[in-house]
Amino acid sequence: MNGLSHDRTTFTNWAGNQLASPLRATQPTTETELANLVEGAAAVGHSVKAVGSGHSFTAIAMTSGVLIDLSAYNRVLEISGNRVTVQAGITLHSLAQQLAEAGLALPNLGDIDVQTVAGATSTGTHGTGLGFHGIASAITAIRAISGEGEVVEFDAEQLRVGRVGLGAAGLLSTITLECVPAFWMHAVEEPLALDAVLEGFDEWSEVTDHAEFFWMPHTDKALVKRNTRRATGPAQASKLKRVSERLATELTENVGFGAMCRVGKARPDLIPKMAAGLAKGFGRKEYTAPSWEVFATPRRVKFIEMEYAVPREAWKSAFAEVRALIDIVSDDEPINFPIEVRVLGGDDIPMSMASGRDSVFIAVHNFRGMAYERYFHGVESIMKRHGGRPHWGKMHYRKAADLAEVYPQWDAFGELVAQLDPNGTFRNPYLNRILG
Ligand SMILES: Cc1cc2nc3c(=O)[nH]c(=O)nc-3n(C[C@H](O)[C@H](O)[C@H](O)COP(=O)(O)OP(=O)(O)OC[C@H]3O[C@@H](n4cnc5c(N)ncnc54)[C@H](O)[C@@H]3O)c2cc1C
Repeated sequence: MNGLSHDRTTFTNWAGNQLASPLRATQPTTETELANLVEGAAAVGHSVKAVGSGHSFTAIAMTSGVLIDLSAYNRVLEISGNRVTVQAGITLHSLAQQLAEAGLALPNLGDIDVQTVAGATSTGTHGTGLGFHGIASAITAIRAISGEGEVVEFDAEQLRVGRVGLGAAGLLSTITLECVPAFWMHAVEEPLALDAVLEGFDEWSEVTDHAEFFWMPHTDKALVKRNTRRATGPAQASKLKRVSERLATELTENVGFGAMCRVGKARPDLIPKMAAGLAKGFGRKEYTAPSWEVFATPRRVKFIEMEYAVPREAWKSAFAEVRALIDIVSDDEPINFPIEVRVLGGDDIPMSMASGRDSVFIAVHNFRGMAYERYFHGVESIMKRHGGRPHWGKMHYRKAADLAEVYPQWDAFGELVAQLDPNGTFRNPYLNRILG
């Protein structure tokens, strides 16, 4: 299974910071099996959790009850016009490939594509683009299993609210998504002075389809990515160029960067120097490739991450405060991982991090095995002051009472959860903390 590793009794997420010991782990292949599993567990008071690819940093997918691994429930069921219906455990990667064969694509994707469709949409997974939304916005129909084991076809209101369901609003069985005609992307990646990036990012977000940047702490350089959608791409001959670009990305982002992280963990005093060296090594790249190849790249260097969405107008202040915080915490907790900044248009999904407002996402990380608590607590208090909302699948320390304040439609979600799971079959300690 992708990311999630398991033996008979324990499950660990991709980052290795969450561990579960379920009573039972099972890998169903049909909807009837899914419904029977939930019904049987609920009858004896056991909790149930579906897991996707285990790529959440939080304990959102962990359970001490029945763990349902959906990696074998992973087929495309139907493609009709621009709509595709899939079983919940299909990965974004597998879906993207099958859509490409049908001349279709998902409208937007995040940095990786190994997550399952159900796992990604349940936590509000997103990419970048002011004119675009998170993956869950593409959902047009859901069939789910209720906490009592009944198969439910979501009505219009359940669908509006339940597209980002945190694994609490039913166990998703099949999902229908509205796709777009397959498209290409013209990608431009270049290192620029951080001050110029801070100055230019708002405008680039408006004129470029998908803009984002990575800032390496301890340096004054950022790597800017600006991707523009195109209906057609270059001829087959350029495939070799794409392969060589991917190889170059693999060497810098995984092999070289991984080595730097390992040295930095052993010799924190070298981190600022190495960070400066890395920033100098960022080269300019320009290429055109099918959309899903540009959106997602493999992430082999393991890290722990927190990501916050703030109202778009607040991002510069929030970023400046994080920059100042790094100067304070890095003596005790050296930071050798970049900060990623992305943008997204506001949507109408109650539990989406971009619900009701255009948002900028600021993600902070540290290499796995290095301290991050003081850094992340500091970032969280900055983000709270700016009305920030944490990514449900990434580290945060918030609880129900103060999360409700930043989600105007919090109660609508509570009502849906009460309808679909009145006895709390899909609850776990993480959901109890954030939902109350
Ligand atoms: C290297 C890396 C890169 C990442 N990049 C991004 C990014 O670019 N953008 C972004 O927004 N996030 C990103 N994430 C976070 C990731 O997309 C989310 O945490 C996502 O939820 C993981 O999907 P998964 O399939 O692994 O789900 P899991 O982590 O296994 O589960 C997530 C939630 O979905 C629930 N779930 C799974 N299947 C079902 C089902 N059938 N019915 C109901 N609930 C279900 C689980 O119970 C749990 O609540 C990244 C994470 C990593 C490790």
